[in-house]
Amino acid sequence: MRNSSRGRGDPFFVMGGPVGAIILALLLVLAPPVQAQDFTALARLDAGASRIERGEDGGLTLTLALSQVVPWRIFTLDAPRRLGVDFSELDWRGVDPETLGDGVRIVTLRPGWSRLTLPLAAPLRLLSAQMAEDAGDHSARLVAVLVPGDAADFAARAGAPSDPGPDARLQPGVTPAPAPDAGPPVIAIDPGHGGIDPGAEREGLSEADLMLALARELAESVNRSGRLRAVLTRDGDDFVPLQTRMTLARAAGAVALVSLHADALEEDAARGASIYTLTAEAQAGASARLAERHDGADLLAGVDLTDAGDAIATALMDLARQETAPRSDRLAAALVAGLRDAGARLNSHPRRAAQLAVLEAADFASVLVETGFLSDDRDRAVLSTAEGRAVLVAGITAALETWLDGEARLAGG
Ligand SMILES: [Zn+2]
Repeated sequence: MRNSSRGRGDPFFVMGGPVGAIILALLLVLAPPVQAQDFTALARLDAGASRIERGEDGGLTLTLALSQVVPWRIFTLDAPRRLGVDFSELDWRGVDPETLGDGVRIVTLRPGWSRLTLPLAAPLRLLSAQMAEDAGDHSARLVAVLVPGDAADFAARAGAPSDPGPDARLQPGVTPAPAPDAGPPVIAIDPGHGGIDPGAEREGLSEADLMLALARELAESVNRSGRLRAVLTRDGDDFVPLQTRMTLARAAGAVALVSLHADALEEDAARGASIYTLTAEAQAGASARLAERHDGADLLAGVDLTDAGDAIATALMDLARQETAPRSDRLAAALVAGLRDAGARLNSHPRRAAQLAVLEAADFASVLVETGFLSDDRDRAVLSTAEGRAVLVAGITAALETWLDGEARLAGG
C-alpha cells in the first residue's frame, strides 16, 4: 500500500463527500483567519443584542451577537422544519433560549459544540449567512437571512449539503445550490498504484494491474446491484496522486472510498485479506495535518474553508470525523464478514488500523482492503484470475450493501 502520509512524499490530502445528518451545510467565517489561541476563552452570546425578525413576506432574519468569532455552521432540518446553527466553544450559560424566540432550543451536541434550533412554520430558504467580526472590539455578529421557499425545495436542501463539484467554490454568504439527488449512493473504488508506481511486483504481475482489473470487476458488480453506483479513481494504468483520487471521490459525491491493494511482504502472516481503517492516533492528527497542507476549499464537501484559518478548519474536520470514523469502522467490519461469508481467504488478523493518508478524509467513510499478498503463492493465484477475484468481488459487494442497510437503519433510528 505504501501510502502512509509519512511515506514517500506523495501529496496526501483529504476531500469530502456527503457527511451525514448533521453535515456542514455551510461554513462562512468572514473574519480574517483566526489563530488557535483565540479560542481558549469561550465566546458568549449577548442575548439582548440578538434577535429573530420575521418579515411580512414570511421570511426571517436571525441575528446573533457574540463576544468573539467562533467556528460555526448553519443548515436546515426537515420533519419538523427547523433552522439549525452549530457553534464551537460558545458559552450559553445565563441565556434563556425562549427569549430569542418561541420554540428556540439550545442543546449540547458534544463537548465544545452546541446547537441552536429554531422552528420554522413554513419552508424557508437560507439566502445568506455570515459572521462578521467587529474590527474594534472583536465581537462577532452572525446574520442569517431566510426567504420563503417551497416544501419540495426545502426537503431537498435539508440535512446534508449537495456537493458543489471539484471546481466549485461557495460564495461567501450564499448557500450552495442544491443538486437533485441523483440516484443511488456512490462508492469510490480506488485501485492502488498505477503508471510510474506499479506497486508490488511478482512473477510478472503487478499490483497496479491486478487492482485495476479487480476494481473494474467490482464496479460492474456494484452497479449491477442497483443499490449503489461505483466510480473508479483511475481506469487505466495511470499514476494518480492520492489527492486526485480523493478529489474524484469527492466530486462524485461518494459516501465511501474503498482502496484496493495487494502488497508483497516476506512474512509468514502476510497472506489473506485484511481491512484497514485509520488509527485513532492518525485520526487525531489528520485534521491538523490536512489543514496545514491543503487548500481550504478541498477539506470538506460543500464547505469553503479558504479563509477560515487552520484552527477552524481543524475543528470542523474533527467534528465531521466523529461521524465518519464510526462509519468507516462499520464498513470495515462488514467487509470482514462479507469476505468471510463469500469464502475469501482472510488474514489471521483481518481487522487492522494504520496511518494511511488515503483514509484521512474527514467527511466520508474510508477503508483500505488489502486483498491478499502478491508475495504469497496462493493469494497471487487468486488475484491473477477473474475466477479468483470473483470471490473478492462478491464479498465486497455484499459487504457494501450490508453496510448501506446498516447506515440507513442508524440514520432512521
Ligand atoms: Zn499497495
